[in-house]
Amino acid sequence: MQRERLLKVLVIGDLGVGKTSLIKRYVHRVFSQHYRATIGVDFALKMLSWDQKTVVRLQLWDIAGQERYGNMTRVYYREAVGALVVFDMTRLSTFQAVLKWKEDLDSKEVHHLQVALSNGTPVPAVLLANKCDQRSHGLCPKLPKLENFSRQCGFVGWYETSAKDDTNIDAAVTCLVESIMAAE
Ligand code: GDP
Ligand code: MG
Repeated sequence: MQRERLLKVLVIGDLGVGKTSLIKRYVHRVFSQHYRATIGVDFALKMLSWDQKTVVRLQLWDIAGQERYGNMTRVYYREAVGALVVFDMTRLSTFQAVLKWKEDLDSKEVHHLQVALSNGTPVPAVLLANKCDQRSHGLCPKLPKLENFSRQCGFVGWYETSAKDDTNIDAAVTCLVESIMAAE
């Protein structure tokens, strides 16, 4: 008998960094240049054969427009077990916002909104430096060493990703799910 695990994972970060594109690429295997701001909260489902005993139903929650307001509603954070925090490699302000997003995520634990695992540690989060296909006209040289930054902020890992070229998205999600499963 296989067991099934439902994992609610948040995808957060500033407007336009590529959250919706990453989800679409990962779940539906498509990419579109056309910018369409998502309205309301939306999620996509992906089934993963995790191991011989476990099927993971991964629910990826898109912020869908609410990122304008800086922090998210309780409903969005409730019962989340992990997060992908995304910034755009070509826009410094979105990188500077990463800390704010991570703190917002971690603070929900303080407010007892269950964004923490049952043992009280913050939910695992992976940092995504998206649009790495545009590295050449990006701010990459100005980025502090992501390895150190990510460790200091308490991320379980970081990846340079591209929703356009399908780079490292699977790796980033796998890293997050491994961390979630290991914490249980
Ligand atoms: P969101 O607001 O964070 O959901 O961002 P979107 O997914 O709507 O993406 C914003 C814009 O960036 C769109 O025009 C996308 O086509 C573009 N975009 C997203 N990811 C990438 C990427 O990896 N590379 C490039 N070149 N463009 C991207
Ligand atoms: Mg979006």
